[in-house]
Amino acid sequence: MASRIDTTVYPGNIINNEFVPTARTRHSINPSTGEPLYEVPYATKENVDSAVQHARRAFKSWSRTTFGERARLLLKYADAIESNREPLERLLVLEQGKPLGLAKTEFSMTLEWLRAFATMEVRDEILDDNDERTITQTFPPLGVCCGIVPWNWPVLLGLGKVGPALITGNTIIIKPSPFTPYCDLKLGEIGMGIFPPGVFQVLSGGDDLGPMLTAHPGIDKIAFTGSVETGKKVMQSCAKTLKRVTLELGGNDPAIICEDVDIDAIVPKITTLAFLNSGQICMLIKRLYVHEKIYDRFRDSMVTFAKSIKTGDGFEPDVLVGPIQNSMQYGKVKDMYSEMSKCNWTQALEGQVIKNSKGYFISPAIIDNPPEDSRIVTEEPFGPIVPILKWSDEDDVIERANNSKAGLGASIWSKDLDRAERMARCLSAGSVWINSHFDVAPNVPFGGHKWSGLGSEWGMTGLKAYCNSRSLWKWKRVM
Ligand code: NAD
Repeated sequence: MASRIDTTVYPGNIINNEFVPTARTRHSINPSTGEPLYEVPYATKENVDSAVQHARRAFKSWSRTTFGERARLLLKYADAIESNREPLERLLVLEQGKPLGLAKTEFSMTLEWLRAFATMEVRDEILDDNDERTITQTFPPLGVCCGIVPWNWPVLLGLGKVGPALITGNTIIIKPSPFTPYCDLKLGEIGMGIFPPGVFQVLSGGDDLGPMLTAHPGIDKIAFTGSVETGKKVMQSCAKTLKRVTLELGGNDPAIICEDVDIDAIVPKITTLAFLNSGQICMLIKRLYVHEKIYDRFRDSMVTFAKSIKTGDGFEPDVLVGPIQNSMQYGKVKDMYSEMSKCNWTQALEGQVIKNSKGYFISPAIIDNPPEDSRIVTEEPFGPIVPILKWSDEDDVIERANNSKAGLGASIWSKDLDRAERMARCLSAGSVWINSHFDVAPNVPFGGHKWSGLGSEWGMTGLKAYCNSRSLWKWKRVM
């Protein structure tokens, strides 16, 4: 059994399996209390150069290990995380704010993902085989990859890049968000005892670190998860060195509710999927289109359920809505709330900015049938506020659902599965669910259409995004 880690001490960045301290340090805060958390390293250009150099050297041997050997180490790594998961789950609540139950879910998913990646071998494909020649498509690793991680789901979205990169024979450097560096640094520390030096490294720093990595000529691929605005900057920077790039960006997911649903049965799930993690998940339900025949009953039932949702510190029992994660996002959500009175939106459920607290707490709000062009419909609020809108015509609601730059997820809710599938096939989104939303799995590709991203993570498609394609032509007759 791996030794227990100390989640209060951060001696340095994880470079070549050593702690490398930095002259400057920084910290982030617990968003439930405003209290400062622990000091973490602030990476410099020299740290980036050193990590890239070690990753390049490590790639030479790591890329030649067998799939079996890489899978063995990935499984060993998952076991080591598992034996430390309790302090890590508490650390995730402290840094991210999410309720403890959700932090446990994030760790369970991460372990399931790592163990699944350890079974997913990208195999050669024979394209042509006859007496004359064999043509084989092979998938060599890209080289040195870098994962840039957001603050909302730092463990799954961090190791959801590490697993695919390593199992396909790449080396990887992880850069957590400055708002949530803690778990990712500890996960790097656990990796020090398992992977060869330089294979998996973690750099924590400030706002200048991401641009240093995307511009670095020694990095071959950036796997980025974050906002659309930053995604565009990442792509622009990567273009200069023609890096491979995968972008997982923001969403504005519609859920279309047909008139034949059992309202009582689906409202708890739908409402939870609108407010989970305080709305700070890329593919939660962000726009609800409810058939006009059931609109009033659905809205009232949703309001009743939402009133039972507890907002508070993630360590309190039964909390579903924790704090907004950081002051910048808190400002954005408050700005959206201030729009309510300016624009005369009707609030079916009035949300509150909770003032007598040092944390960034805002309680859920439901906006009753706002105009289709209002900000709450067209923008991703990334907070606990959701609009419900009426529909009556199938073609019209599909057009409205698709009328967004975002195309991450979408759902149709109906008892008529044929109708639901017909509608689902018209929706422009990387994931479309029937009678559900926000299902993900390690063997299923996950990505966005339009401005929600470029390429996919996870599934065989996601793993191949960490590989080049090499067509190997073997002529059998010697000239
Ligand atoms: P963000 O874009 O502000 O930051 C994401 C990461 O990029 C952070 O690590 C940040 O430090 C880094 N970064 C910032 N500027 C950079 C630059 N110029 N070059 C390189 N890196 C830079 O996003 P966020 O606020 O951390 O996350 C919230 C957003 O992420 C939301 O829009 C959400 O929908 C999206 N998101 C998408 C997915 C998905 O899989 N599609 C998942 C989670 C979150």
